[in-house]
Amino acid sequence: MKIFIKTYGCQMNLRDSEATAGELNKLGHEIVYDENEADVFIFNTCSVREKAELKAVGKIGILKKLKKKKPNLIIGIMGCMAQNKGEELLKELPHVNFVVGTGQLHKVPELITNIIEERDKKRKQNIAKGLDESFGVGFDEASEEILQNAKNGERRMPRADIQEVLLENDEDVLESLNSHFDDTNSAISAFVAVTRGCNRFCSYCIVPYVRGREISRTIEDVVNEVTELTVNGIKEVMLLGQNVAAFGLKGDTKAPAPENSPFADLLTELCKIDKLKRIRFVSPYPSYFNEKLINVLAKEEKICHNIHLPFQSGSDRVLKAMNRQYTAEQYKNIIDKIKTAVPDVTFSTDIIVGFPGETDEDFAKTREVFNYVGFDNAYIFKYSPREGTKAAELTDLMVSEEVKEERNQILLNDLTKITEQNNADLCGSVVEILVEGASKRNSERWSGRTSTNKVVIFPPTDGVDVGDIVNVKIDKSSSMSLFGKVVF
Ligand code: SF4
Repeated sequence: MKIFIKTYGCQMNLRDSEATAGELNKLGHEIVYDENEADVFIFNTCSVREKAELKAVGKIGILKKLKKKKPNLIIGIMGCMAQNKGEELLKELPHVNFVVGTGQLHKVPELITNIIEERDKKRKQNIAKGLDESFGVGFDEASEEILQNAKNGERRMPRADIQEVLLENDEDVLESLNSHFDDTNSAISAFVAVTRGCNRFCSYCIVPYVRGREISRTIEDVVNEVTELTVNGIKEVMLLGQNVAAFGLKGDTKAPAPENSPFADLLTELCKIDKLKRIRFVSPYPSYFNEKLINVLAKEEKICHNIHLPFQSGSDRVLKAMNRQYTAEQYKNIIDKIKTAVPDVTFSTDIIVGFPGETDEDFAKTREVFNYVGFDNAYIFKYSPREGTKAAELTDLMVSEEVKEERNQILLNDLTKITEQNNADLCGSVVEILVEGASKRNSERWSGRTSTNKVVIFPPTDGVDVGDIVNVKIDKSSSMSLFGKVVF
């Protein structure tokens, strides 16, 4: 079968799609990137914003026409929206074959195999009964009537022949999604999921509802996966988890004691893998940056000097309403401690503007922290309510779209100024980069990344290849990139 996978949302979803592609490939299926070639469509969906759900539903809805032309198509929905909406999706999109929630993602290959086998069986039965072999294949028999009705002017879509909804939480998902899929064989970086789910219940966030309770893999299991990746040429891993630094804490949301950090233990073990050159991770919650973790960040050279540390708001009042269990002062203290331990560290963050009840004064506090840290990158979100979360109930306190947009622009302008200055400060210096290769649009521009996650553009250079670690002398900068030449 030729399988097309469309992914919405975060890096964890990209990782899940990649693992699913790997498993499907092992079964002999081909992953295709052209929708016109596909026999199977899989949509890995996101529920974090309503817009992402609407986009996916719209796209799947468009496939109704194609399914009428090609009844053998298999269409499946997996991931967060599947978990969030469940059975309801089959009413809205009756041409869909399966809806698979986040705790059952590892079952997707098996489901596809079952559908193929069921259809084969049906064809054989049809032949034995003297019927057209395709009768009831693709659409169920009742739907043949609906199809007939449609000819008479009724516009209901027929139901898919085989439909499954799998939503239960199955911890096997944790260790069953370890496949990697790279059909170019030129990747140097890979995502590795180390935790799944989240127990923190920030009041605006739907993740704990759609991704379930926080669970962690074992150190041994992660080390085995990363070792195998390095054997296949991977030089850098990005460890993923909705609450990644809570790795190994068994879902405890209390800040751990200073000497307790299973995540630090994991990092230490991964650093021992010879061929692994760099480790990144995303997204940690601030409270887990205790003494032990910060010491490991400082000591281990393979851990990149760029930390993504979501702060969401600089106002203690808003942080409390968000159920974020730290104050702005505590957040700044963690930043200071990391800066002291790792002097060249850079930070990126997530921020929400226009959380219900956020006043000008609250926003001014956010802006103060924003400029205090001097972030190199920030994902600034205008608050949008997600049904089922606590914050969505604060209907009387909603902030207008104009005000959200205004605050968004203010932070974006601050960010541009900060990054322009941070990057300009590096002109004249020599930085170490991991070479990522030629730009897709311009082969005369190669790029690489510093440990601090800055993109460095340089001309192709004899003796320098993808995956090498080289030094580049910086002669120019912009808010987005650094430019220079390789020095030996
Ligand atoms: S820590 Fe908060 S924002 Fe992050 S996934 Fe968990 S609930 Fe959502």
